[in-house]
Amino acid sequence: MEKIFRAVMDASQDAIFIHKRLKFIYMNQRGAEILKVEKPEDAIGKDVRDFIQLGSDSIHPDELHKAINGELFTPYYSESYYHVNGHEIKMAVYVENLTVDGENYAKVVCKNVPEKKKILELEEQNRLREEFFANLSHELRTPLNIILSGMQLMEKRENIIHPAEDACFKSVRRSGYRLLRLVNNILDMTKIDSGNFDVSMSKVNIVYIVEDIIESAADYIKSKGIEIQFDTDVEEKTVLCNVECIDRIILNILSNAVKFTPKGGRIDVSIYDRDDSVHIHIKDTGIGIDDKNLRRIFERFEQVDKSFRRSHEGSGMGLAIVKSLLDIHGGKIKVISSSGEGSDFIIELKASNEKSSFETNEIIDKEKYIDRKVNIEFSDVDI
Ligand code: ADP
Repeated sequence: MEKIFRAVMDASQDAIFIHKRLKFIYMNQRGAEILKVEKPEDAIGKDVRDFIQLGSDSIHPDELHKAINGELFTPYYSESYYHVNGHEIKMAVYVENLTVDGENYAKVVCKNVPEKKKILELEEQNRLREEFFANLSHELRTPLNIILSGMQLMEKRENIIHPAEDACFKSVRRSGYRLLRLVNNILDMTKIDSGNFDVSMSKVNIVYIVEDIIESAADYIKSKGIEIQFDTDVEEKTVLCNVECIDRIILNILSNAVKFTPKGGRIDVSIYDRDDSVHIHIKDTGIGIDDKNLRRIFERFEQVDKSFRRSHEGSGMGLAIVKSLLDIHGGKIKVISSSGEGSDFIIELKASNEKSSFETNEIIDKEKYIDRKVNIEFSDVDI
């Protein structure tokens, strides 16, 4: 039991001291840190005043006198500057009596108080950071979007073109989408990190959303010589989510499945109703992931085998973003895979009992929107 009490005390973020007649009897690890000694034992038995200058604003002289004589004193709370071992720190200090077996001790709990000025400075820094990223986001996306819409217009020209020109045109367009994906991922990751990634949620039929994405990507996937199949054991399942995020999650995993599945393979996307949740499996017959790397793939910038870099391009941010987007939805992701045996990515989302309130035609020109998403998310495949 004593071990447990000690563990609790040592885990405390507050410094806790017990002294008798101003001689330290006990302190936790945090207390030793504040006194700037290596371990509590280095200060136990010593006088509080060897470490802390007790000013008149921290304790009334009469009360100090009582504490020195081992008498009961009036508990007090103060928030002020203390000189501790030559350093000035601002602390909130609470001192009260502790009586055990008729003996009086003083119990002191100290917390570091960040100065108001520092808090204001931090807030200002945060605001500037946000402003900078909002501006950067606009500055990066605007020229890219202009290039991409220009390409789209050129694509519609009738009198096309020499085959070499056509290949060059496609490669420029794909590079544009790739750059846009990278910019989106970097900016979103920054926003997620700083807690500024705000999304609006609506109640949608997840079955419809997933089926729609698969349909949009199917032609492209088949053109890579990979079979794709969609299956579901439920027609309607409502999930509270942001549709754009869900599109990105699915397309990200799907684009990896295409990237790491050789010609002749297949991808199965299946939805399973689990009453209060829904499971979406994206299963491929590709190269698989070995045990060692399975745990790491959701970490940032992680690509399992750097030697794939040339044939399998990517920044290693995809799955980290997928995981963060799922966290925002209170969802989960796991993967079952082994080397050479394909991979099964399983997304779990909480289901809602209510009916979906989202009309798909709320997105104007949904087809165009999702084609663009497919272009962006698949831009890393077969560079
Ligand atoms: P990237 O954007 O570089 O693809 P991801 O975060 O999306 O990064 O994926 C991280 C790594 O996980 C990939 O580089 C790859 O090694 C591995 N991986 C992801 N999905 C699959 C899959 N379906 N099959 C095999 N390996 C995969």
